[in-house]
Amino acid sequence: MTGMADTAVTMDKIVSLAKRRGFVFQSSEIYGGLSGAWDYGPQGIELKNRIARFWWKEMTQLHDNIVGIDAAILMHPRVWHASGHVENFTDPLVDCKKCKTRFRADQIPPENLAAKKCPECGGELTETRKFNLMFKTTLGPVEDESGLVYLRPETAQGIYVNFKNVQQSNRMKIPFGIAQIGKAFRNEIVTKNFIFRTCEFEQMEMQFFVKPGTDMEWFEYWREQRWNYYQKLGIDMNKLRWHRHGPDELAHYAKDAYDIEFEFPMGFKELEGVHNRSDYDLSRHQQFSGKDLQYIDQDNGNERYIPNIIETSAGLTRQLLMLLCDSYEEQKVADKGNDDDWRTVLHFHPAVAPITVAVLPLMKKDGLAELAQEIRAELKEDFVTDYDQSGAIGRRYRRQDEVGTPFCVTIDYQTKEDSTITIRDRDSMLQERVPRMRISEYIRHKIKDYKRPERRL
Ligand code: ATP
Repeated sequence: MTGMADTAVTMDKIVSLAKRRGFVFQSSEIYGGLSGAWDYGPQGIELKNRIARFWWKEMTQLHDNIVGIDAAILMHPRVWHASGHVENFTDPLVDCKKCKTRFRADQIPPENLAAKKCPECGGELTETRKFNLMFKTTLGPVEDESGLVYLRPETAQGIYVNFKNVQQSNRMKIPFGIAQIGKAFRNEIVTKNFIFRTCEFEQMEMQFFVKPGTDMEWFEYWREQRWNYYQKLGIDMNKLRWHRHGPDELAHYAKDAYDIEFEFPMGFKELEGVHNRSDYDLSRHQQFSGKDLQYIDQDNGNERYIPNIIETSAGLTRQLLMLLCDSYEEQKVADKGNDDDWRTVLHFHPAVAPITVAVLPLMKKDGLAELAQEIRAELKEDFVTDYDQSGAIGRRYRRQDEVGTPFCVTIDYQTKEDSTITIRDRDSMLQERVPRMRISEYIRHKIKDYKRPERRL
């Protein structure tokens, strides 16, 4: 890249970097791939685990009244009748008779739908029909209807059906919440835009149980909390916005619902939902299971009621895509008229970056490599580290920038003399000399005080 360059963040660039640097690979690629499924490589899994950890800390550790669970993916089939998924979890589907492309009827231009004209090839479209998004399989050796189970299309139901278990075993008092991170599966009709919409994905959901009448207050509280979360994560807040569900989008049981949308390269799209679900979920499970799911308020004369639920429902894999898109920058860092003038950098918050610190000896010789390995060993207990001794130091910095490593520790001849090293900051590219003994402390402080840099876009 030389001279004037197009530095716009496109999905093609993200997909290519994700593959090149080991974030995300196509599933079963050597067999031609499987649409709607993706594999997370060494950098991808580190990033995914850290986002999950960041969310988990935010929702459980920082709130006294939220606990976690990990429910099974396979659940009793009646759960999905009670939840309404068997009946209603459908997308409207149309096919083109000519090019065979399948569309979601609500995602093609209305004039095409009205004229039954394929937006791709102009061929004739079929009638719209309902298509249930749940994957089915059978439990047990006999493949008949009696063993029919579904792969869960959301993690929320695992929380609802455990409401009493958690409340009683942990003596939780309302208001309280249950958080869960886990896989969900949907037979999505259209799975373009990389990992944005996939058939297998991960959700991070928290269901907050409140007394009826206090629900709108808690709803506002959670809207604010979830908005602030993205600020903490270092996201460009100009790329986020609220979308309130209109009457045609609002589920019949929902009192109010907002989505937080992020401006992906293909436009503003849903990132997370914050919904006031009324008492629908527990009422339905009480009705279908025949079990009493009322809460008994012992502090208030044993008053009984079905709690209302405020839900915060985020996509983990979708947040990973948001982070890739938001942090990506092609930055001009010199003016020598060659490729080295540019760097591609991922400005991840250091708390979620896949590698926290890379240890780089300036030279392999004169004992610097051994010294660097020693220092790396000291840092390993506290941080995910990388070690790289091959190539010019500038190249090595560039490689770390491309995977978003926030700190590079360089070992040079002075290190041998006075036990100091340099730490290079990924965003400012400035270097500071720090005593070897203080590296961990220095990095910990930097992570805690991290501020999103102003981009030079
Ligand atoms: P849509 O209408 O776009 O299909 P939705 O509104 O049904 O999605 P929810 O059921 O509210 O989505 O799911 C909560 C969150 O889970 C979403 O905000 C998104 O982050 C994530 N999510 C949902 N479906 C997918 C998918 N197919 N792939 C990746 N993430 C998903």
